[in-house]
Amino acid sequence: MIGSAYNDAYRQDSTIHEVTADLAYRRLAIVNVMFYGPSGAGDRSWVLIDAGLPKTAELIAGAAAERFGEGARPAAIILTHGHFDHVGALRELATRWDAPVYAHPLEHPYLNGQSPYPPPDPSVGGGLMARFSGLYPRGPVDVSRWLRALPSDGSVPEMPGWRWLHTPGHTPGHVSLWRDDDRLLVAGDAFVTTKQESVYAVAVQKPELHGPPRYFTPDWQAAKTSVERLAALEPERAVTGHGRAMQSAALRAALHSLARDFETQAVPRRGRYVGDPARADAGGTTYVPRAPRPEGRVLNATFAGAALTLLGGWLIYRGLEKRKARSSGPGHRRGY
Ligand SMILES: [Zn+2]
Ligand SMILES: [Zn+2]
Repeated sequence: MIGSAYNDAYRQDSTIHEVTADLAYRRLAIVNVMFYGPSGAGDRSWVLIDAGLPKTAELIAGAAAERFGEGARPAAIILTHGHFDHVGALRELATRWDAPVYAHPLEHPYLNGQSPYPPPDPSVGGGLMARFSGLYPRGPVDVSRWLRALPSDGSVPEMPGWRWLHTPGHTPGHVSLWRDDDRLLVAGDAFVTTKQESVYAVAVQKPELHGPPRYFTPDWQAAKTSVERLAALEPERAVTGHGRAMQSAALRAALHSLARDFETQAVPRRGRYVGDPARADAGGTTYVPRAPRPEGRVLNATFAGAALTLLGGWLIYRGLEKRKARSSGPGHRRGY
C-alpha cells in the first residue's frame, strides 16, 4: 500500500501546464518549477521561478528548451525561498546559464552558505511526507556568486508589471509574486494546493488549499499574517510550490477560509514550533526551540524504512523520466 502510494507520488508528469500565455509550471515529483515568459521567448527573455529538487537540472533545462527554444537561457532566476526542494538544481542551472539569482535579503543566509534552516518537525502529523521530514536537507546551499537582493522598491527583475511581497513564516525571507493586471499570484509555499504532508495527497494532486507544509514551517504567527495578506489581494489565479494551480471563486473562497480558520486548518495541533517560533535575522537562524522527546527506536526504524522507500520511488521516477525522454518528447497542455 505504502509502496504503491510512493510509486504514484513519483510518477512522471512531464506536462508543462500553462496558466496564462506567459506563466507556466512543471511538476517535478513533489514540487513545481515555474516559467515566466511566452512560449518561444528565446535567449535571455524568460525567468525561472524556483529550481526544483536535487538532480532535476536536466529536466528543468529540458522543459525550458521545449518552451523557450533550444539553448535559451533565462534573464534571471527568482526564488520564493531556499528550501531544498526549491533550490535543488539551482547551483547547476545558475552555472550552466550564468544567470543572476534573486531572493529576499533575509533568505540570503540559506543561499550563501551562512546558515541552515531550523530543523524540520516530523511530529506535526499529516502523513509520511511529514514523518520522514527529519531526513530532508536544510541547507545552506551556496550560490553567492550569482546571488542578488530583490529590489527594495518591490519590483521583480525581468518581470515587468509584477511585484514581490514579503510573506514570511514558512521561511524568514519567503516571498510571493503578484501581478495586479490579471490578479495572478505565485505563492511559493506561503500556502499550497495539496496536502503536502501526505504522500497519498501529493500523488493524487486533487487541488485543495492548505497552509504552508507543516513540517518545514517554524513561525506560525507570521505564516498566518502572510496568508491573510494574500487572501486580501483577491487573486484570480494562483500557482503554488506544491499542487496544481487554482483559480477564480473557488480559489478565493478557499483562501479566505484558510485565512479565517488558520489555527484549525493550517497550524498543527502540536509541534516543535507551535507557540515557540524559531527566530532569524540577516545572518540566518538565531533561535530554535528544543526538540520534542526523541522518537523511539521502533519509530526510527520506520523512518529508515520510509527513507528507503522514498529512495526506491525516486530511482523509479528517474528511470521513467529517462525512458520517457528517450522515447518521446514531453507534451504541452493548456489548463491546470
Ligand atoms: Zn518550503
Ligand atoms: Zn516547498
